[in-house]
Amino acid sequence: MAQKYILAIDQGTTSSRAILYDLDGRPCQSAQREFPQVFPKEGWVEHDARHIWQDVRDLCRELIGGLGSGDEVVGIGITNQRETTVVWDRKTGEPIANAIVWQDRRTADRCQTLQEAGHQSWVQERTGLLLDPYFSGTKVAWLLDHVEGARVRAEAGELAFGTIDSWLIWNLTGGKVHATDATNASRTLLYNIADGRWDEELADLLEVPMGVLPEVRNCADDFGVAADDVLGANIPICGVAGDQQAATIGQTCFAPGMMKSTYGTGCFALLNTGGTQVISTNKLLTTIAYQIGGDVTYALEGSIFMAGATIQWVRDKLGILKSASESQALAEAAAADSGVFLVPAFTGLGAPYWDPHARGALIGMTRDTGIPEIARAALESVSYQTRDLMEAMMADLGEAFPAQAPLRVDGGMVANDWFLQDLANLLGRPVERPKQQETTALGAAYLAGLQLGYFNSLEDLSSAWEMDRQFEPQESSDHRDRRYERWRVAVARVLSDKN
Ligand code: ADP
Repeated sequence: MAQKYILAIDQGTTSSRAILYDLDGRPCQSAQREFPQVFPKEGWVEHDARHIWQDVRDLCRELIGGLGSGDEVVGIGITNQRETTVVWDRKTGEPIANAIVWQDRRTADRCQTLQEAGHQSWVQERTGLLLDPYFSGTKVAWLLDHVEGARVRAEAGELAFGTIDSWLIWNLTGGKVHATDATNASRTLLYNIADGRWDEELADLLEVPMGVLPEVRNCADDFGVAADDVLGANIPICGVAGDQQAATIGQTCFAPGMMKSTYGTGCFALLNTGGTQVISTNKLLTTIAYQIGGDVTYALEGSIFMAGATIQWVRDKLGILKSASESQALAEAAAADSGVFLVPAFTGLGAPYWDPHARGALIGMTRDTGIPEIARAALESVSYQTRDLMEAMMADLGEAFPAQAPLRVDGGMVANDWFLQDLANLLGRPVERPKQQETTALGAAYLAGLQLGYFNSLEDLSSAWEMDRQFEPQESSDHRDRRYERWRVAVARVLSDKN
């Protein structure tokens, strides 16, 4: 019998990838393309949605073309950069403008006006989110108001909105399906995560006509068929989740209290809270981790803007590292407790501070401070920021936050053993690195495999998770708390007075 594969599409912020998985969840073939970032103005970030689609189509064709027959691909799973907003014409399939990327801050004033008008608390209760330009809702309204004639066309039902998953589904199905999944919907500020529906009052507040919204489905569901004339074979699309949720699934964090943290450019930590929608009082986000068979599992999410990007900055701007991996040997050589702290608030601070006006600082230097201490402070800054997130989770959950539960990690930075040991020391909990570190695409493949019946259950998938290495805490709790206190003092020095 011919080998069978699941095709995972991982559409990220800087590159698109396609990966073929066998039915045991092992990656077999992959292809990747980077694409241009568009920066029209300070604080604005755009993507050409058409370019993204063409790349994805070509990558899929390349992998499918390399097989004996397209029939070997049994299904497609999609995972995507979240919140990035596309509006297109339903008739022509043409985007009305470039996509507005999640990093784009152009709707900051609009969000501030909504906050000042007192809308934050009811919006947070329904969406789990903060009124921040990061999310899709205000981006959709911006496009409708700034592209000539767009609002009138949207109200006449001529336009469709989607995050990148919807945009890809639309194109893969030749315009037959306009749908998204619950995780992507939960990042729009328009979706009521308690009731599981688009919310008319939120749509009114954000001035988004309900007619542009896609249909919301489970993460493992029927999203239509990628047509023969598009990919060279008829292949069902049957799994969809936003990138961080897909990584949570790839890490098989299926029980309440399980959590994962992804260390790429930034860092995203998600804690499974089961069927409980915990509303954060510490500026974390409440989000849908996954929805399967109509059952919603929620997560608390914290994000850090500068994780691996801090190491990149040390490498490229300070020029004291030849490669990111060199940070490990330097950190090993550095004096412990040197008192040097790098607060990488280069673009403000994310959770739990959400201070867009904070700026970076390197403090506590003496005449003994050298390159190793700075490299070490850069790695430690990522551990400290993770501890900030864990403290916020603890404050939100109280007793329900499992004190000793391990943190599963993935992303480019987890190649650094010194960093993971420091992280375990500072958190006072085990840090676990899996064998398969491409968890995002894996999560999308898992969802498709579940829908198709190749994987029987979440439990089935859990047993496939394999550990590469566990890092146990090796620091006294006194010592870790003392150095964390000093970090908090360093952060207090960079927060803006608006915070
Ligand atoms: P993304 O998916 O966000 O592009 P990746 O998961 O590929 O990111 O991770 C790349 C990031 O990891 C870079 O910012 C890089 O600085 C960091 N990185 C890679 N290897 C190491 C290492 N050995 N030590 C520290 N940081 C590293």
